[in-house]
Amino acid sequence: MSATGDPQQADDLLERTRAFIRDTVIPAEPAPGTTLDAQELERLRELARAAGVYAPHLPVEYGGIGLPITAWSPIFQAAGYSPIGPSVLGCMAPDEGNAHLLEKIGTPGQKHDYLGPLARGEVRSAFAMTEPHPGAGSDPEALRTTAVEVDGGWRIDGEKRYISGAEGAGFFIVMARTEHGATMFLVDAGTPGLRVGRDIRTTEHAIAGGHSHVHFDDCRVGADAVLGEPHEGFRYAQVRLGPARLTHCMRWLGLARRSLDIALDRAESRELFGSRLRDLGLAQALIADSVIDIEASDALIASCATALATDPREGARLSSIAKVFCSEAIVRVVDRAIQLCGGDGVSDDLPLASYWGEVRPFRIYDGANETHRWAIARRASSARRRAMAADADAAAAGGAA
Ligand SMILES: Cc1cc2nc3c(=O)[nH]c(=O)nc-3n(C[C@H](O)[C@H](O)[C@H](O)COP(=O)(O)OP(=O)(O)OC[C@H]3O[C@@H](n4cnc5c(N)ncnc54)[C@H](O)[C@@H]3O)c2cc1C
Repeated sequence: MSATGDPQQADDLLERTRAFIRDTVIPAEPAPGTTLDAQELERLRELARAAGVYAPHLPVEYGGIGLPITAWSPIFQAAGYSPIGPSVLGCMAPDEGNAHLLEKIGTPGQKHDYLGPLARGEVRSAFAMTEPHPGAGSDPEALRTTAVEVDGGWRIDGEKRYISGAEGAGFFIVMARTEHGATMFLVDAGTPGLRVGRDIRTTEHAIAGGHSHVHFDDCRVGADAVLGEPHEGFRYAQVRLGPARLTHCMRWLGLARRSLDIALDRAESRELFGSRLRDLGLAQALIADSVIDIEASDALIASCATALATDPREGARLSSIAKVFCSEAIVRVVDRAIQLCGGDGVSDDLPLASYWGEVRPFRIYDGANETHRWAIARRASSARRRAMAADADAAAAGGAA
């Protein structure tokens, strides 16, 4: 079925996605702070396919539903209402961003060999960019992993860290420094010289396959392993990251909504000082601020999605702004929900503390918020300089006339 561009079909899909998450996914959630086991994930994905809610974002030719990016947000938020929902629906990071990149820049052969199996949920993937100090992190120019051309292909050497989903991934998209910039490579798991090392435990557990160190020692790949064109890696990283940042905003906003719902239910049932918690002014302030954070995030996501679909430059600018605002607003919403639930908020009796652990790293990955603020400020200053120069030119032209 294709829901592309048809509001009625999109509404119907949203209702079915919400029902699927409520009736099938939430009852199957693992204990807070643990990762869904692979067999259970496959069972749930089968049910998602049967319910017609799997891969809402992927092209129809690859087995997806084919929604345009402007229609993703409500669906991704509905999926994100459960921390395992996006994985079950096949729209979780890093696969979702990797699929987008393959669709945009992959050769027909790469789409057949990598995007097809990824879209069908037959393999998982990883995106390997970040490196140990002094390598690439916030500053991609510090990239130290190298790829040099050898007879019949390339040799990759280096070390990556925090590579989400690395354990059990079928393939890796690897960023490496090449003679004229950086190049992205598709490297199959099991390629000699590629080794998945230590899993770095973080507060985040929603992604299967951990956040691992990955080592490349004399790792040889063929010429056809180059994703897109050689030396275009830094540009391609932005192709991937603009939408990928925004879909993180969408998914985690769904979890913020769930957190607020948990807090609202508690505020309804809890009696304190002779009244319901929901009727105490300071509690109402916490609730109101969360509603405002959610609505503002929702609006920013919608305008950024429209820009990404129509004007990539404006889309990139807004995706930085949305990433910073949403990642902070979402953490605030979860934190206020914890506060409203008192001791239970930080206990294992409620999932809120684990939700905080899921959303907090978003202020660090997809570009740390400080890096984005830096870029936002520089863009604002240069736009102002351009406007001043244009005004001066217009005044000079007027004077000359
Ligand atoms: C849960 C999780 C999953 C991840 N998954 C992946 C993955 O799948 N693939 C991948 O490649 N990487 C992944 N990462 C890595 C992530 O992208 C990096 O952690 C991030 O880019 C920051 O790099 P760094 O950790 O090296 O911190 P650093 O680069 O050392 O930055 C440290 C701090 O410096 C500050 N800073 C940055 N820029 C500026 C600035 N311009 N001005 C002032 N201060 C600044 C920020 O506060 C930043 O947090 C993941 C990380 C986490 C936590």
